[in-house]
Amino acid sequence: MSVRPIITLPDPVLRRKARTVAQFNKQLQELIDDMVETMRAAPGVGLAAPQIDVAQRVIVVEYAEPEEIEPAPEGETTVEMPPPKPKLYVMVNPEIVKSSVEMETGIEGCLSIPGLVGEVERNLTVQLKGFNRRGQPMKLKATGWLARIFQHEVDHINGVLFTDRAARVWKPAPEEIDLEETV
Ligand code: ZN
Repeated sequence: MSVRPIITLPDPVLRRKARTVAQFNKQLQELIDDMVETMRAAPGVGLAAPQIDVAQRVIVVEYAEPEEIEPAPEGETTVEMPPPKPKLYVMVNPEIVKSSVEMETGIEGCLSIPGLVGEVERNLTVQLKGFNRRGQPMKLKATGWLARIFQHEVDHINGVLFTDRAARVWKPAPEEIDLEETV
C-alpha cells in the first residue's frame, strides 16, 4: 500500500467521466488499498479514483456517524459515551438510485480544490447501489453528512466538482477549515 499524490485543479482528469470497472482483479485491490491510505493521510472523509489520477469509477468513504444521544433516565447520571467509530465504505461503479426530495445546505471542501469551500445544496438522503471490492452487488442508504459525502464522490467520477454546484464559493479563514471533513 502507498499514499499517492492527490491531483488538484486544473488537471483534466478531474473533469473526465471515469470508466466503469469491468474486472475485479489484483490491480483494483491495490488501487482501493492506496485510495484508503491516501484518504487517511490527507486526511479526508472521502476520495474518488480520479483524485489520484485514475479515471475509474471507484470511491472510498470513511466517516463516523454521530450517535443518537438518548437522554439519561430521571435520577441517573449521564455516562460519557466513547466517540463514534468511523466506518469505511468502498464502492465500485456506484450509482445513486434514489434521492430524497428534501434538500440540505452545507459547507463543502475538496482535497482537489485546496483553499476553497462552498455552500452546496444536496439531497438529504440518497440510496446507492454498486459493487464491493470483490465484485458482489451492494446497496446502501445514507442521510445527512454521509449522504453529502457520497454525492460529492459520485460527482467526482462524473467529472463534476462541488464548485459547479455551489451557491457561493470563498476562501475560508484558517479557523474555518475542518480538514477532517474534506472530501
Ligand atoms: Zn472532492
